[in-house]
Amino acid sequence: MTRQSPKVGVYGFTGCAGDQLMILNCEDQLVDLFGATDIRSFVMAKSDNHEGELDVAFIEGSISTEEQLKRLKEIRERSKVMIAIGTCACHGGPQAMKLGEGKWEEMYKKVYGNAKINVSKAFEAQPIDAFVKVDMYIPGCPIDKTEFLGTVSKLVAGRHPYLLKAPVCLECRWRENPCILYAGRFCAGPLTKSGCGAVCPTHNLPCVGCWGPTDDLNVSSEYELLKEKGYDPDEIIKKIKKFGGARVAQLVKDLEKKKEAKT
Ligand code: SF4
Ligand code: SF4
Repeated sequence: MTRQSPKVGVYGFTGCAGDQLMILNCEDQLVDLFGATDIRSFVMAKSDNHEGELDVAFIEGSISTEEQLKRLKEIRERSKVMIAIGTCACHGGPQAMKLGEGKWEEMYKKVYGNAKINVSKAFEAQPIDAFVKVDMYIPGCPIDKTEFLGTVSKLVAGRHPYLLKAPVCLECRWRENPCILYAGRFCAGPLTKSGCGAVCPTHNLPCVGCWGPTDDLNVSSEYELLKEKGYDPDEIIKKIKKFGGARVAQLVKDLEKKKEAKT
């Protein structure tokens, strides 16, 4: 290990741990990854963990308890760069699909009944940037190996990582797939961030938006395309907020407002 190797921490909060598993699933590159970086803390991968100053903290999962919030803030304070990995950390994930509707306690009771949870006070699950500054987002449910390794390589080389900002449709077109929307099935590709290689439409399955909302500037016309195909705004919101959480619902509402203001 060289002294220049970036000190890295990988942490998980509310989520399925699939993104951490995906990192471990980089089998062929794992030795290189551990060789090029100084992994200080990664509970799922090793037992000898040290908490201290970090160059990069990768954070998986949404924040849903007071204890998690305290821990997140503590990690932020000692990290130069914080990167959200996976849809839960980036957008809140499925647990945040009803964010802001005040129904989380109802859902909580469906799972835990009236059992008193003493571990930590829970609250509506939110993406990590609701609480701390986030320097970069690697979305996905789970994240894509190539995007993760590409980001780490650039960080190790002292370069600024960059992810494609276009929607899934772009990667889908690159693969020359017949468009599922034109076959009359709802596909969330136009409003979903790319990075997965359009894996679902390539297997004739509609995209359900697991990469979360795209930050492409052309989102307005993509949304209009969905409406032209006969889908109403409520239906679009309902379908894509499963992974996009409140943020995507707001995105669609803002587009509607802009349109109303023009008419
Ligand atoms: S709408 Fe779906 S199937 Fe059509 S181009 Fe976009 S991602 Fe591909
Ligand atoms: S095509 Fe859509 S649902 Fe499938 S992996 Fe990509 S973003 Fe997720």
